Amino acid sequence: MASDTFGDHLEKIYPIIEEGGSDSAAFDNVLELLVVNGALTLPEAVMVMIPEAWQANELMDPDKKAFYQWASHVEEPFDGPALFTFSDGRYVGANLDRNGLRPCRYYITSTDLMICASEVGTVPVDPEIIVSKGRLHPGKMLLVDTHEGRLVDDSELKQSVAQKHPYKEWIKRSICLNTLLNQLHIDPNHMVVDNASIPLEQDTRLIANNYSLEQLNLLMLPMISDGKETLGSMGNDAVLACMDEQPRLIYDYFKQLFAQVTNPPIDPIREQIVMSLSCCVGPFANLLTVGPEQCDRLVLDSPMLTKPQMHAIRSMNKVHSTWNAVTIDITFDRKLGIDGYLPCLDRVCQEASVAIEVGAKVIILSDSAFGQTAGGRVSLSALIAVGGVHHYLVRNKLRGRVALMIETNEAREVHHFCLLLGYGADAICPVLALDIIGKLLQKGAVRNKDLPYEQLVFNYFKAVDNGILKVMSKMGISTLASYKGAQIFEAVGLDATVISRCFAGTSSRIKGATFDLVARDALTLYDRSLLGQQGHNAVQPMTMPETGEYHWRSGGQNHICEPSGMGHLQDAVRQKNKTSYDEYAKNAHDAVARCTLRGLLDFDTSKCRPIPVEQVEPWTAIVKRFVTGAMSYGSISLEAHASIAVAMNSIGGKSNTGEGGEKPERSIPRENGDNLRSAIKQVASGRFGVTAYYLADADELQIKMAQGAKPGEGGELAGGKVSEEIASTRKTTPGIGLISPPPHHDIYSIEDLKQLIYDLKCANPRARVSVKLVSEVGVGIVAAGVAKAKADHILISGHDGGTGASRWTGIKYAGLPWELGLAETHQTLVLNDLRGRVILQTDGQLKTGRDVAIACLLGAEEWGFATTPLIALGCIMMRKCHLNTCPVGIATQDPVLRAKFEGKPEHVVNFFFYLAEELRQIMASLGCRTIHEMVGHAEYLKVKESNLSIKTANLDLSPILTPAHQLRPGVDTVQRHKQQHNLHIRLDNYLKDEAEGVLLGEQSHVAIRANIVNTDRATGTTLSYHISKRFGEKGLANDSIQVQFTGSAGQSFGAFLAPGITFSLEGDANDYVGKGLSGGRLIIYPPKACTFPSDNNIIVGNVCLYGATSGEAYFCGVAAERFCVRNSGAIAVCEGAGDHACEYMTGGRVVILGDTGRNLAAGMSGGIAYVLDRKNQLPEKVNMEMVELESLADAEEIQQVKQWIEAHVNYTGSKVGAEVLQHFDKYVGLFVKIMPIEYRHLLETQRATAQAPAKQTAPAKKPCTHIEDVEDSLLSEQEIQARRARLDKLRGFMKYKRKTDPYRPAASRVNDWKELNKRLSRPELHVQAARCMDCGVPMCQSDSGCPIGNIIPKWNELVYKDDWKDALDRLLMTNNFPEFTGRVCPAPCENSCVLGINEPPVSIKSIEAAIIDHAYEQGWMEPKPPAVRSGKRIAVIGSGPAGLSVADQLNKAGHSITVYDRNDRMGGLLMYGIPNMKLDKNLVQRRLDLMAAEGITFVPNAHVGVNVDARELQKTNDVVVVATGATWPRDLVIPGRSEAKSGVHFAMEFLQANTKSLLDSNLQDGHYLSAKGKDVIVIGGGDTGNDCIGTSLRHGCKSVVNFELLPQPPVDRAPDNPWPQFARVYKVDYGHAEVQAHFGKDPREYCVLSKSFEVNDQGQVTGINTVRVEWTKVDGKWNMQELQDSEQFFKADLVLLSMGFLGPENEVIKQLELTQDPRTNILTTKKSNFATHVPGVFAAGDCRRGQSLVVHGINEGRQCALEVDTYLADVYLKSATDSQQEDYVSALPVTGGILKRRVKKIIVEAKA
Ligand SMILES: Cc1cc2nc3c(=O)[nH]c(=O)nc-3n(C[C@H](O)[C@H](O)[C@H](O)COP(=O)(O)OP(=O)(O)OC[C@H]3O[C@@H](n4cnc5c(N)ncnc54)[C@H](O)[C@@H]3O)c2cc1C
Ligand code: SF4
Ligand code: SF4
Repeated sequence: MASDTFGDHLEKIYPIIEEGGSDSAAFDNVLELLVVNGALTLPEAVMVMIPEAWQANELMDPDKKAFYQWASHVEEPFDGPALFTFSDGRYVGANLDRNGLRPCRYYITSTDLMICASEVGTVPVDPEIIVSKGRLHPGKMLLVDTHEGRLVDDSELKQSVAQKHPYKEWIKRSICLNTLLNQLHIDPNHMVVDNASIPLEQDTRLIANNYSLEQLNLLMLPMISDGKETLGSMGNDAVLACMDEQPRLIYDYFKQLFAQVTNPPIDPIREQIVMSLSCCVGPFANLLTVGPEQCDRLVLDSPMLTKPQMHAIRSMNKVHSTWNAVTIDITFDRKLGIDGYLPCLDRVCQEASVAIEVGAKVIILSDSAFGQTAGGRVSLSALIAVGGVHHYLVRNKLRGRVALMIETNEAREVHHFCLLLGYGADAICPVLALDIIGKLLQKGAVRNKDLPYEQLVFNYFKAVDNGILKVMSKMGISTLASYKGAQIFEAVGLDATVISRCFAGTSSRIKGATFDLVARDALTLYDRSLLGQQGHNAVQPMTMPETGEYHWRSGGQNHICEPSGMGHLQDAVRQKNKTSYDEYAKNAHDAVARCTLRGLLDFDTSKCRPIPVEQVEPWTAIVKRFVTGAMSYGSISLEAHASIAVAMNSIGGKSNTGEGGEKPERSIPRENGDNLRSAIKQVASGRFGVTAYYLADADELQIKMAQGAKPGEGGELAGGKVSEEIASTRKTTPGIGLISPPPHHDIYSIEDLKQLIYDLKCANPRARVSVKLVSEVGVGIVAAGVAKAKADHILISGHDGGTGASRWTGIKYAGLPWELGLAETHQTLVLNDLRGRVILQTDGQLKTGRDVAIACLLGAEEWGFATTPLIALGCIMMRKCHLNTCPVGIATQDPVLRAKFEGKPEHVVNFFFYLAEELRQIMASLGCRTIHEMVGHAEYLKVKESNLSIKTANLDLSPILTPAHQLRPGVDTVQRHKQQHNLHIRLDNYLKDEAEGVLLGEQSHVAIRANIVNTDRATGTTLSYHISKRFGEKGLANDSIQVQFTGSAGQSFGAFLAPGITFSLEGDANDYVGKGLSGGRLIIYPPKACTFPSDNNIIVGNVCLYGATSGEAYFCGVAAERFCVRNSGAIAVCEGAGDHACEYMTGGRVVILGDTGRNLAAGMSGGIAYVLDRKNQLPEKVNMEMVELESLADAEEIQQVKQWIEAHVNYTGSKVGAEVLQHFDKYVGLFVKIMPIEYRHLLETQRATAQAPAKQTAPAKKPCTHIEDVEDSLLSEQEIQARRARLDKLRGFMKYKRKTDPYRPAASRVNDWKELNKRLSRPELHVQAARCMDCGVPMCQSDSGCPIGNIIPKWNELVYKDDWKDALDRLLMTNNFPEFTGRVCPAPCENSCVLGINEPPVSIKSIEAAIIDHAYEQGWMEPKPPAVRSGKRIAVIGSGPAGLSVADQLNKAGHSITVYDRNDRMGGLLMYGIPNMKLDKNLVQRRLDLMAAEGITFVPNAHVGVNVDARELQKTNDVVVVATGATWPRDLVIPGRSEAKSGVHFAMEFLQANTKSLLDSNLQDGHYLSAKGKDVIVIGGGDTGNDCIGTSLRHGCKSVVNFELLPQPPVDRAPDNPWPQFARVYKVDYGHAEVQAHFGKDPREYCVLSKSFEVNDQGQVTGINTVRVEWTKVDGKWNMQELQDSEQFFKADLVLLSMGFLGPENEVIKQLELTQDPRTNILTTKKSNFATHVPGVFAAGDCRRGQSLVVHGINEGRQCALEVDTYLADVYLKSATDSQQEDYVSALPVTGGILKRRVKKIIVEAKA
C-alpha cells in the first residue's frame, strides 16, 4: 500500500486492523483508513466495503455493476448481516447487508424529520405529519446530505458514484479465464488423463492419497454422474482422525465452523442470488489509489480448474507478458523418510518467495512429481503446502503479490477444497480426481454411460462448487472472496507446531499430531501404494480397499456402533439379560476408547471416598434426566416414535417430537395408560406443524439451531416418506419432499433468538425453553448469550449425533466432539455466573453409564440419546433412513415395512434401567450420592495413560479437565434458580382478563380496545395459549375475541394467534407479525389520518407470517423482506412485498396487490401466490426453480381471489384493493399466478380422483415376489440384461423371494457321488443379489457373520451389476478358497443377515459359489507367483483349510512354503473328510495345482513326528506352522464297546476310506467300509454324521438311523438364541432329505442315550440298547434325566461314531514340545495369537481352536500368516533403522481384506 495522504507515515498505522477487536471494529478500522486516505468519499467507501449482491443481478444498471465489479478487484466484500450507520459530519447514512437480514425502518415527516431505527414506534410521531414510511432494502444505502439538506436516493447516489470514473473501461483490463483459453487456443474440456494405461484400481496415486472404495462410490461417483453429493444418515460415529492409528489425511483433523445464533446460515440454493464463487486473483494494486491498474487481475468464476485451464494459466505469459507463473514441486525423496518432510516445506516456502521476487504473479504448488524417479517421491500434503506457503507469505507481507494455486493428487472432497481455499489457495486443479473421472469413463463405471467427459467434469465441479457454497453459507458467508483465507475451521488434535506454521490463528485446543506423525502417515500410505506394483508382491487383487470410513466394515475404520454391541444390546433389552448388557457395555467402552476423546479418560477415584451403591439416588430419579433425541415423526415411523414417547413418559424422562410436529390425538392417554405425547416439542427452522396448540402442549420447547448435529443444514425428508399422515401432521402436501431452510428466518442474531425465546415463553409460560447448540470453539460464549437471552435450558450436541438425512460433507466435518463444547460451555457459564440459571444437557453417541458419568463430570446434568434407544427398538443401523426402506419398520413410512416393527416401549425402558444402574455404580465409586453432587467435577477425571498410543500421546486434554468451580469459586455450578421472564407485565394479561368470559365459556364474544407500543412484544401469544389449553387445536369460533389496537406493535405481533381471535391494528408493526399464525385473523392498516399511498409504504416488517399454518392476514401496505416464508396454510393479502417472499411455502394462499422484491417463491413447493404485476416485471423476480407462472383463468379461482380482495378492502379500507375491485375486469389480466409444479400435479390428481366415479376398491396388490419366470436358459444376452435393468435393488428385499442353489432330486442323486447341487442361473443370481440391502452395518460381515469378513454387500452389488470380475476381486480380498466355502460353509453370514430378522436372508453362499465358479470358467484363476521372494522358509504341517490358507498367504507375501501332510493327498478334511457329493475332489485338486503353480511345495505321505522329524523342520525353516487339525475322535465308552471287534467305527475311518477308494478306483478296489445291505446307526448329529448318512445311502444300506442325545431344535429361534447369533433351529440337511425320500422317514432320533452295544459271539455288533432322556433347565443350566420305561433296542450291523473330535493328535506336539490347553488344543501366547510358546512355531486351525468349520480354518490361516509375516519382519527390522521400523507395512491384510499399519510398533506402554 502507498498513500499520498500518509506518505512515509503509512508504516506507523500498521496493523490497520487492530488485533483482538470485533468484526465491527475491524470494519471500522478499514473504513476509517479508506475515508481518511481521501481517495474515496464515505458513501463510496461504504459501497466498496458492503457491495450489493451484484453478480447474479440481471436487473442492475450496467454502470453500477461495473463499479461493484471494480470494487471486487480492490477489496473483499463485507457480507455479514448488519445494519451499518455512519456519519462524517456531512453525510448521515445507513447501509444494509446484501442479504437484508437486519431490519431498518424509517419515517419521513412533513416537518423534514427522518426517524430511522431498527424498529418502528421507537419515537411517538403524530400520524398526520408522516409523509412516508419506508425500510432499507438489502444492500441499499439510506443517505442524508446535511449540506444539501436532502435525502439522497440510493439509485441517484450510486449512479453518480458509478459515473465518477470509467469503471466499465477499467474492468476490461481484468483477464477472464475463458478469454485466456481462447487466446491460447486451449480447449478447456480436452480430456487429459495421466497414467491412462494403468487401470484405476492399480494407480498407485490413489492408495498413496488414501482413497477408499467408499470415497469413489459414495462420494465421487454421484458427484460425477449426477452433479450432487449424496445424502447420508445416522451421524458420524467413526474414530476421530487424531485417535486413529491408521494413516489419515490431514484434512480429517479439521472441522468446519458454522454460524449459530450470532449470525445466520444462508440457504445457498434458494438464496443463490446473494452467493458468488467468482473471485479476482493475482497481485492487488495499491488499495489507496483509485485507478485502472487495480483491475489488472485474473477473474475466476470458480476456484476449480480443469487441467487445460491450469495449463492455460501456466502459459499465460505467452499472451500477457507480465503474468509469469512458477510451478513449485512439493514432493521429496522417499529415502529421506520423516526427515524429508519439514525441509521440503522450507524449500517450497523459499522458492515461493524467490519466485515473487523475480516477478511471478502466479505460484502453482504441484505434487505431480509424486512417485517419479527410482527411489520415489512422496508429497507434502497439499493442505500443508498451501497453508505453509500462505502463512509464510503473509508473515513476509508478500501474499498480496501473487495468486496461489495448487495442482494436487490429494484433494477430491468438498471438505478438502474448502480447507485449501480457507487456508489461502486461490484456485485448485484436482489432477487425480480428474484422471479418475477419465478412467471411470473409460471403464464404463459411470451410471449415465452416454455422458461425455466434459459433462462428467462439469458435474463434478458443479457438485464441488455447490458444496463449497454450502460450507460457506453455513457460516453465513456469501462470497468466496470473503471465505478465502478466512480459516473458518477448528482443528482437533493437531499440535501447535503444525498450527503455527501452516494454520496460524486456527483453534486447536487439545494439541496432538506433530509434523512427524503427519509425515509418517504420508510415508505409510506411499509405501502401501507400492504393494502389488512392479517388484512388489500383491497378496490380494489390486483394488481399492473398502475401509469402513463411512459405514462400518469388518477390519476397517473403528466406529462406536459395532455390530456385536448392537446384538448384545437387543438381547439385553428384550430378554432382560444383564449379562448381555454387560457385554454390550464392554463392547461400547472399548469402541468409545478407540474412537472418542472421552475414551482417553478414566475416573480418578483417588480424590473420592466411595460409598455403597445403595446410598446413591435410585435409578428412577436418574432416568428423569434422560431425554431422547429429536427424531422427527416422518423420519421415523409412528410406531417407533410413539414407542419412544410411551417409554420416556413411563419413566419420567422426555421424548422429543423432532421438527415434524405431532398429532394432537397423541396427547390423549390410551386406556392402558400409555402416554404417546412427546414432552419436548421442537421448533425448527422448517416450523413444520408448529401451532399454538402444539406449543401449549409442551413441557419443553426446544429451539433447534442445528439439523441433527449439523448447524446450517436443512433437514431433508424424501417425498416418498411424506405420506398423507405425515403431510397432515406437518401441514404440507403428501408426496412432496421437504427441505427445511438452514436458517431460522426469525433468528439472524442473538437478539432475534432472545425474541423467539420470549415468543415461546409467552406461547407456553409453563414450558421451559431450550436452545440446541452444537459443539464448536466459541460455543461457550454463544451459550452465555443464550443464557442471557433467558433460555431455561441449553443443549450442547456433539458432532457425531445422528441426522435423518444430510450431505456427507456436513455429517463428517461439521461440529466438534461434545466433550470440548460441553466443557467450554460449562466453564464459560460458571465464569460469567450464568450456570445457576440454566440446565445444561449434552448428546452425541452416548452409549453407556460411563459416557453419562463423564458428561456429568464435564458439566451436563441431563443427557440425550438417539441412536441407542433406536437400536434397543430394533434398529440395525442400515443407514438407509433417507430411502424409506428400513427393513425393521423404524425409519420408514412404508406400511409394509412398518408392519415389521417389533420394538416395544419396555425395550427402551430396560435400556435406560441398565444404563442408570451402570451409572449408579460409577457414582458410588466416586462417592456421589446424587447427580447434583457430581455435575462439573472434572477433577474426578484423569487421562488414562495406559490407553495412549504414539498417535494420542501428545493430546492435551487439560482444557476440558479444568474444574469450572476452580475458575470462579463461590458461584453456582449447576442450575439452582429459574430465569426471570417478567411475564407479569405483558399486555396479554390485560387481554386475558378482558376475555375471561369467553375463556371460561360464559360468553361467546368480546370486543376489546387497547393501545400498543413497540415494547409490547409477542402480543396475543399468551391469549392463544389459554385458548389452546382450554379449547384444543380447534380453538374458538371466528371473531370470538376481537381486539382493536392502535399504535406501533412490537415484534411478533399476533404470533401463533389461535382460532377465534381477530386482531385489528391501526398503525404499523415490526418484524415477525403473525409468525406461526394458527387460525387467528390479523388486520393491519395505516392510521386513518395518514395520507401516503399504502402500496408504497411499509406496514409490517421482515419475516411476517413465517411458518403460519392457518388463519388470515390482511395488511394494507407493503410487507418487508421474507413475507410468508414457510407458510403452510394461511391466507394473506398485502400490497407489496420485499425480497424472498413466499420462500419455502408449502401451502396457503397469498395475494400481493403490488410490487415484490427478488427471489420470489424460492423453494416454494405448495400453496399458490397471486401477484398483481402492473409493471410486467414479475418473471424476472421469481425464482423459477420449482414454480411456473400462469394467468388467472379459472372462473372459480377468479371469484375466490376477488373475495379475498373484498375481505381485504372490507377489513382494512384499502384504497388499492378498492381500485382493483372497481376495475376488476381490467386488473384480472394483470394477475400472475405462481404455481409450484409438483403442487399443481397433486391438485390435478386430487381433482381427478374426486371427479372419477367411485370404483370398487381393488384388492391390495401383493408385493411382487418373483421376476418373470421364463426358462433362464432360453434367454438371450439382451434379455438377461433387460431383466437385470428392471430389477429394483432398493426394494429388492421386499419384492423378490430367496432362492438358493437347487439340489438334484433326493431320490436319484443317491445313485452317484457327484455334487448335490448346481448353481443358480445368472438371471437368478442378479435377482438374489438385488435382495441385498447393502447395509450400513452389514451384520453378515460382523463377528456373528462371516468369520473372514467377506465383503458381502460389495460383491452382491457387483453381481447385481453383472460385474463378475470385480466381484471376484472383492471376494479374493478376503477368501482364499471361495469354491470350498461356497459349497460347504454353513453360512453364519446368512444367519446374521439383517434380512433374516423377518424375511428369509440373502442367498450369500450361492452368490459366493457362483462368483468363483464363473471365474474358473472364464479362465481368470491363473497362477500368479509372487514378484519377489523374501528368502524366508516356512514349513506348514497339515494341508487342511488352515494349512492351505497360511501357505497361500505367505507364499503371496514372497516367502518359500513347503506343506507336509501325512495323507497321500493334500487338502485335509477338504479332501478326506467332506464327501465328494458335498465338495468335488477335483475342485480341491484344482486349487492345489494352482497353488503349486504359484510356487508352494507339497509333500504328501509325510507324517511329521512319525516319519518326518518336526525338529528337523524347525531347524531348516525360519518358521513352522502347525495346522494338523482336530482329528482325535471322541469314543463312546459304554458296555460292549471293547467287545465289539467289528461293526463299530469312527466316522472318519468310514469317510476317509470311502473317498480314497472312490478317487483311487471308483470304489472298485474294495478298500473301504461298505454299508451295503447293512442296518446303519450313526451316533451324533452335525455335518459329519450327516455325511455318514449320505455315504451309507449311496453304498446301499438297508436302513439308517441317526442318534442325537439333545432334543429336536425348535423350528424358529428360541428366545435364548436371538438374531444375529447362529440359529439353532431344526434343519433338514441333504442326508436327512435323502433318507426321507428313500425310506419315507427322517433318520433322526432325538433324546436318545446309547446304553450298551449288543455284540454277537464273533465280536460283531448287532445293535444298541438305548434309553430316552429328558432335558430340563435348572438354575439356568441344562439337566438330563433318563425317562423311565423308555428303553429301546436298535438293530445295527454298522455303527458309525460321529461325536466330534477331542483335539489334535500329539506326535508333532510332543516333538516340538508345544503346550496344550485343558481341551488338549495347542496353546498360543494369547487367545487371539497364533505364536506358540516355542519361538518360531505357530499354530492355526482346528488344532488351535478346536473342531470348527472350513471358514474358521481359512480365517485362522490368514490371521496366522499375518502374524508370521510380522514376526519375520521383526527379525529383519531388528537390524533396520527406527524410521523403517515405524513405517513397515505388511502386505497381508486383516479381516475384510484391509491393510493395516502395524499397530504393535506404535503403541506406547504409558506416558512417563
Ligand atoms: C466329515 C466332516 C465334515 C465336515 N463338513 C464340514 C462342512 O460341511 N462345512 C464346514 O465348514 N466344515 C466342515 N467340517 C469341519 C472342517 O472340515 C474342519 O473344521 C476344517 O477342515 C479344519 O481345518 P484344519 O486345516 O484345521 O484341519 P484339517 O482339515 O483337519 O486338516 C489337518 C490336516 O493335517 C494332517 N495332519 C495331522 N497330523 C499330521 C502330522 N503329524 N503330520 C502331517 N500331517 C498331519 C491331517 O492329515 C489333515 O490332512 C467337517 C468335518 C468333518 C470331519
Ligand atoms: S465363507 Fe461362509 S460365512 Fe463367509 S460369506 Fe461365505 S458362506 Fe458366508
Ligand atoms: S447380505 Fe444381508 S446383512 Fe449383508 S449387506 Fe446384504 S442385506 Fe445386509
